[in-house]
Amino acid sequence: MRSPAIVLTCPTCGRRFRVRNWEGGERAACPYGAHTVALLPFKGGGADRCPLCGKAGFYREKRFPRALGLGALALGIALSFYTYGLSLAVFAALDAVLYGLLPWRLVCYACGTHIEGVPPAPDQRPFDLHLHERYRYEQAGRR
Ligand SMILES: [Zn+2]
Ligand SMILES: [Zn+2]
Repeated sequence: MRSPAIVLTCPTCGRRFRVRNWEGGERAACPYGAHTVALLPFKGGGADRCPLCGKAGFYREKRFPRALGLGALALGIALSFYTYGLSLAVFAALDAVLYGLLPWRLVCYACGTHIEGVPPAPDQRPFDLHLHERYRYEQAGRR
């Protein structure tokens, strides 16, 4: 398996950057300044805690290039005039196939860090508003 990539917001300067091929190192150099970000390696094999904030609440989402989906939809609508709506059905089917092939990424509820290249565990469900509120609330309470 390839090493995961993480996308995080630097706690020092507040900018977002990606760490490619993260092999569990305990710090990453921020590309925007002469400082490093402390990271927490996973405890087990999967993404069991957030490398940045250490919480274990993640949701899964597809790494879907939104612009591509919208472009395909617009093209389907434009062509449907000539194909009597058939192109819409074709594009919808294509969309579904593409969606199935796309990899997941995990997003930390508490700090928004992305983890790519790690298959989600069964209990890492798609976005849940209640969990989101709970983590946000905890986060606010600590400040
Ligand atoms: Zn920084
Ligand atoms: Zn986090």
